[in-house]
Amino acid sequence: MSYIDPTAKVFAATRAAPWPEVRPLLSLIVPVQDEEAAIAPFVARVVPILDALAADEGWEILFVDDGSTDATLPAIFAARALYPSIRCLSLSRNFGKEAALSAGLDRVRGRAVVPIDVDLQDPPEVLDQMLDAWRAGNEVVLGIRRSRSTDGWLKRRTADLFYRAHNRLSRDKIPAHAGDFRLLDARVVDVIRAMPERNRFMKGLFAWGGFRQASVEYDRAERANGTTKFNYWRLWTLALDGITSSSTMPLRIWSYVGGIVALAAMTYAAGIAIKTLLFGSSVAGYPSLFVAVTFLGGIQLLSLGVLGEYVGRILIEAKGRPLYVVRDAIGFD
Ligand code: UDP
Ligand code: MG
Repeated sequence: MSYIDPTAKVFAATRAAPWPEVRPLLSLIVPVQDEEAAIAPFVARVVPILDALAADEGWEILFVDDGSTDATLPAIFAARALYPSIRCLSLSRNFGKEAALSAGLDRVRGRAVVPIDVDLQDPPEVLDQMLDAWRAGNEVVLGIRRSRSTDGWLKRRTADLFYRAHNRLSRDKIPAHAGDFRLLDARVVDVIRAMPERNRFMKGLFAWGGFRQASVEYDRAERANGTTKFNYWRLWTLALDGITSSSTMPLRIWSYVGGIVALAAMTYAAGIAIKTLLFGSSVAGYPSLFVAVTFLGGIQLLSLGVLGEYVGRILIEAKGRPLYVVRDAIGFD
């Protein structure tokens, strides 16, 4: 069965599949890109835990193959042959983790949903506590990384900087050290599904949704195998997406900067006028002129660039293309 997913349309109302009648208790959404070596260990570690937690009420693992070019898909098929509760959406190319997660959220079935990485950096043992907190009435249970010692110094510093900048600028605060690993009640999934935007900075969308939240702490492990798919350039792009999608502060700041510069310029002009009246005119002033021109030129380019960031994003939203294209859906009937 090959098709462009008819439910992956522009409008939120038609994008997601309706909830089925029979629903498992717990769904894992696992975005994977070129992770052939990670699938089997992941399944081997996670299935016993799921069986212990939800043997009666049922569970599912929904892999979202994000345009893998290696043997990831056959590995998923092999796992599905063992456990029919494993299902898979295969995207037509690499759309990025955020889009892959959106695809998963659109087609997931569980009453509680947990996005989780395949590299076992987020310990599935924590699912137990997450379910407890959910049963106690929380719609969102955040996984908080107690330490990030497995991330390098630079990654920790830049992550920290990002969280602080984001939370300064945006009303929707992202809890620091919370990744995508979190339990979401189906109601929260409905809210995410209803969001029409193409920019899927998931942490921002989750934060916007609100709901009662609890958190569970865990230690982030080393990547079990393979290598990270996020280099610093990709992380920077993600950070830009995050900030521009949840705050217009970078746009507004230029009104203030402009105001301050204009004020300073007027004060300076008044100073020159007074000086000229008292002491007569002189031709000096080349350095100050040069500084003023280049400074203002710089500010103008910078503010134009910020404007461009937003205009570009408006263009992407206006085109209204699907977020992702499903090439194959395996295990959906
Ligand atoms: N991933 C994905 N699409 C991408 C990049 C990553 O589906 O374009 C998946 C990847 O296979 C993994 C998860 O997202 O399951 C997290 O990626 P990774 O472990 O490389 O990120 P990190 O832990 O370094 O932040
Ligand atoms: Mg990882």
